[in-house]
Amino acid sequence: MTAVEIKCPKCNEGMEEGFIADYTQGAVLVSKWVEGRPEKSFWLGTKTKGKENVKVKTYRCRGCGYLESYAK
Ligand SMILES: [Zn+2]
Repeated sequence: MTAVEIKCPKCNEGMEEGFIADYTQGAVLVSKWVEGRPEKSFWLGTKTKGKENVKVKTYRCRGCGYLESYAK
């Protein structure tokens, strides 16, 4: 089975899979999609507890550099 290659909607070049790294103190994390608007939390920066969150996969176009993200 071969993976279906995603084509860039802007220039029709092939796109490669990656993710947007979230650099935090001493670690590199994968950015996540969180439902709703960001709410500040005194201890944690931004509240995410109890909210739906999904890891974000981002494709980058080899031609023009366009980024397209999916949170499945
Ligand atoms: Zn492109």
